Amino acid sequence: MSRMIVVSNRVPLPDKDGKLPAGGLAVAVHAALQEEGGIWFGWSGQSGEEEPGPVHRRSHGAIDYVLTDLSSRDVDEYYSGFANRVLWPLFHCRIDLAEYSRRDKDGYFRVNRLFADRLMPLIEPDDIIWVHDYHLIPLAAELRRRGVKNRIGFFLHIPWPPADILFAMPIYDQILKGLSSYDLVGFQTDHDLDNYISCLIREGVGGRAPNTPLAEAAPAAAALRAYGRTFQAATFPIGIETAEFARLAAQSEEMDEVQDVRRSMNGRDLIIGVDRLDYSKGIPERILAFERFLELNPDRSGHVTLLQIAPSSRSEVPEYRDMQATVESLAGRVNGTMGRIDWTPIRYINQGVAREALAGLYRQARVGLVTPLRDGMNLVAKEYVAAQDPDDPGVLVLSRFAGAARGLRGAVLCNPHDSEQTARAMEWALTMTLEERRSRWRDMMDYLLEHDIGSWCRSYLAALSHSRDHAAPSQSDT
Ligand code: UDP
Repeated sequence: MSRMIVVSNRVPLPDKDGKLPAGGLAVAVHAALQEEGGIWFGWSGQSGEEEPGPVHRRSHGAIDYVLTDLSSRDVDEYYSGFANRVLWPLFHCRIDLAEYSRRDKDGYFRVNRLFADRLMPLIEPDDIIWVHDYHLIPLAAELRRRGVKNRIGFFLHIPWPPADILFAMPIYDQILKGLSSYDLVGFQTDHDLDNYISCLIREGVGGRAPNTPLAEAAPAAAALRAYGRTFQAATFPIGIETAEFARLAAQSEEMDEVQDVRRSMNGRDLIIGVDRLDYSKGIPERILAFERFLELNPDRSGHVTLLQIAPSSRSEVPEYRDMQATVESLAGRVNGTMGRIDWTPIRYINQGVAREALAGLYRQARVGLVTPLRDGMNLVAKEYVAAQDPDDPGVLVLSRFAGAARGLRGAVLCNPHDSEQTARAMEWALTMTLEERRSRWRDMMDYLLEHDIGSWCRSYLAALSHSRDHAAPSQSDT
């Protein structure tokens, strides 16, 4: 196998004892890099007033970490600006929140050029390059411009929007074209892949490549021809470390923190929601649905608690600060109007909870309430399932707009915009027979064991390795 270069906005570095950061993606990609050796390149997280100095290098086992600082202006325009205030809202179908500015767009392309310049001296002819996520869409085009002929793959962790949404963004054509410089474009679900192909067709720049065999079978795959290049696009739904997470949850049940929660519940049913505080997660809608659930089921009053864990994120963006105020006020209203002196309907925690405790809390909850308005995948849904007690599993209530809904067939699906329907889904989940809970859980757990993060990583890399097996002879990398 060739050496691999992974490129992502941030790099999950091991700590000084060599321990990797928690989270399946970091572990799986590290495992793949460790096998043949390779480089992980990205932003150091540091910024200053000056233009960035030389890259920093650090080695761990067979992996070289190469990090670049950015200037504060770069961070402001590329990261907080174009990535988080244009691409993130737009790709999550929130045109209303996208704040396009030419200055931020220029910063986004400037940082992609900087990444390309800094990668160039590191690339050897047989290296395979794997680029992650929406921060770096133009990177392959920049590398091709500098003469790189290597196989370059891209994986989009967030959804790809429908054409009418994408086309609302000025310079959408540069973003659409950007992906055609890769050899393999990976999406989370078939909906994202279909949306991408429709964008190419609607724009009249390409579509499926007739008579081009596919390099690798994926749940959905297509050979595409656009902007004069032939390349592959396929779905690779990201997974978690399923077996490991299940073990962690069984152990964590005994943690003091988790036992304290159990005691404080006093026999009540627990419904759990865990999300970064982000408008894509549908937290206000979820609180309203829980309120509706209590109105529709007065006998549940005093017997069910919603634990909503929602650590703040991206607080430099005003919409995120506003959301925090909205969630606090909604939770306060429901507690004020529906609570009793001996029962608080919603426990809202605006802080992160460590992975171990989270695993134990998932296992205690009768219902996992995962209702994003739109989500590339949603790992919380998968973790909730993996954490359940096989003999007495809880029920996953899942938004049909989460990528996870494409694979987790045993979930109770809901429309998060419809509080009535979500409320009924909660009630159904709480009354479901043990037999049905077990059968739905088994179905989902088998899927998660088969499609874990290791298999995601292997199947993506196998497809990327073979992405040129059937490439058209006219393929041009310039
Ligand atoms: N998470 C955590 N502690 C928290 C909240 C979330 O460790 O307090 C983790 C959670 O276990 C999951 C990840 O953060 O692994 C969130 O991933 P997801 O795909 O659900 O959403 P994202 O934040 O990436 O949009």
